[in-house]
Amino acid sequence: MRNKIVAGNWKMNLDYQEGISLFSEILNMVGDETRGNQQVIVCSPFIHLYNIAQQSKDSSNVFVGAQNIHQNDSGAYTGEISASQVKSTGASYVILGHSERRAYFGEDEKLLEVKLNQALKNGLNPIFCIGETKDERESGEFWDILAKQLKETVFLLSNEDFAKVVLAYEPVWAIGTGLTATPEQAQEVHAFIREEIAKNFNQEIADNTSILYGGSCNPKNAAELFSQADIDGGLIGGASLKSRDFLDIINVFNGR
Ligand code: PEP
Repeated sequence: MRNKIVAGNWKMNLDYQEGISLFSEILNMVGDETRGNQQVIVCSPFIHLYNIAQQSKDSSNVFVGAQNIHQNDSGAYTGEISASQVKSTGASYVILGHSERRAYFGEDEKLLEVKLNQALKNGLNPIFCIGETKDERESGEFWDILAKQLKETVFLLSNEDFAKVVLAYEPVWAIGTGLTATPEQAQEVHAFIREEIAKNFNQEIADNTSILYGGSCNPKNAAELFSQADIDGGLIGGASLKSRDFLDIINVFNGR
């Protein structure tokens, strides 16, 4: 059975103290409960990683991730962070392919394939994002665009490595905009992604892949989105910065 995941993406928010205390609250509220195949992942700025990874090290359902890694092992890349450095903090995930990195830092499929391999080689599980812009949706080209984003990156991995990847469908027009894909729109794309995985790998791998929805997901719309057959949770930006909202989204899986 595939994992049900709620992942928070703090982006470039929260100072050191604010991040540590938000994480403690989240951990206290979800840490002790048995949640079977449910996982919570917090992707923080680099400054928080070591502290929060240590806080969560005894938890079986709360994990920590970074929001980026450099494509090389080490060296003269001032200001950058390598996959092994992230791993050494105790973090176990990294977001790759986020639309903000694609748009503002020019990250394309070719670079993302290298970063995916860097992450996996260093024991980090990628949370890999794909998604279309508003123009791409309106022109109807988005099916081809999503297929290409998969084909040139995660679909080049071995079966064994792909099994470590969590996918996130994040329509770019819905990120941070307050616009959300309808549950039907999101389900349609998630089902398409799962079919593509089955074609590229096999049905068993497709059935075991967690595919998260991201884009203005909040406590009000999460239940309907997560009730769709192929939506296995969410990647949450803005609403992950407030413990109550994030907890309410996590609790959707517990039906309370
Ligand atoms: C994100 O950045 O991955 C995201 C989904 O942001 P928001 O929830 O704020 O739209």
